[in-house]
Amino acid sequence: MSLEFVYGGNPARIVFGNGARRRVSEWVEALGCRRALVLTTPQQRAEGAALAGQLGPLAAGQFAGAVMHTPVEVTEQALARVAELGADCLVALGGGSTTGLGKAIAYRTDLPQVVVPTTYAGSEVTPILGQTAAGRKTTLRDPRVLPEIVIYDPELTLGLSAAVSVTSGLNAIAHAAEALYAADRNPITTLLALEGLRAMRQALPGVAAVPTDLAARGGALYGAWLCGTVLGSVAMALHHKLCHTLGGSFDLPHAETHAVMLPHTVGFNAAAVPDLLQPLGAIFGGAPGPALYDFAASLKAPLALRDLGLAEAALDRAADEATANPYPNPRPVDRAAIRALLQAAWEGRRPEP
Ligand code: NAD
Repeated sequence: MSLEFVYGGNPARIVFGNGARRRVSEWVEALGCRRALVLTTPQQRAEGAALAGQLGPLAAGQFAGAVMHTPVEVTEQALARVAELGADCLVALGGGSTTGLGKAIAYRTDLPQVVVPTTYAGSEVTPILGQTAAGRKTTLRDPRVLPEIVIYDPELTLGLSAAVSVTSGLNAIAHAAEALYAADRNPITTLLALEGLRAMRQALPGVAAVPTDLAARGGALYGAWLCGTVLGSVAMALHHKLCHTLGGSFDLPHAETHAVMLPHTVGFNAAAVPDLLQPLGAIFGGAPGPALYDFAASLKAPLALRDLGLAEAALDRAADEATANPYPNPRPVDRAAIRALLQAAWEGRRPEP
């Protein structure tokens, strides 16, 4: 086999460990910063206040307005707070929504970011920003968006419910699954993706059974880092495009949509690249699509788009939108096949091997 590839590592510093959140001040100082703005969602305001308290004089203030899909109006409010407080860095504590707000501010100001993730979404290690203006979600890649420091503390994920942990974990698995057949994959991204899949496969059942199991939480967060890293390194395909359409145009919840779609999109592509997806099948114990479906079912994840509130009548438009623009995918994306895939996902049918 002749090897030929381009590999680019994203220059972020990763700090991992139980209690690592107590080292945020150290890393703010390492960036040469003195006035951090702490970002959270309204739901995690108290955790943000505790972090600001721990930062002491290094905290300039807090903005607890992050919401899903990064609306530009919220970013503008946060930018006003940055200016008012004279903040010189951002500390984002939360899931992909809070990380997204920090990235949106950094994109406009180039302020350095410290991210303390509390879900498995993986956004903290990607140079990708998705944001919504006038009801339309668009995505960009820019080095300013990549956080400088990521502090993974498994103890911070103990409060994430079993249900959200499972869908968030399946969201992470989706990144690694698509990295295995990415058009621009390389041997390093494949290694990272497989290790991420193994870590998630091993840890997620433990997290679902006992959400306070710190060892399982550590394994899942380690997997989330690896899965997020490959999301930030190679191009995603059918699965992410379909989820983007369903989330952006039909307002479906992000992680749950990934959880439902994954067995169908991976099963669809497995027919074209069985060799590339065979290692995933081996990790999950069967043919890729059905094995992922059975794994999701065993964790009590949502299995049908209809259970997420999508009307059956919306499937035609979803198929039109998802096939309007061509993009690289291992199997040709034709409208009839995608419409059938969406029907199966809407009904929650187990994919054929
Ligand atoms: P989220 O950040 O919206 O979090 C869901 C809810 O759970 C929020 O209310 C949050 O405050 C709460 N929460 C988070 N962690 C918690 C914890 N440990 N304990 C208790 N509650 C907690 O959800 P998400 O799935 O992490 O992120 C979704 C968003 O991230 C979407 O907008 C998606 O597009 C984006 N995303 C972006 C990328 C990227 O690379 N740009 C990657 C993945 C996801």
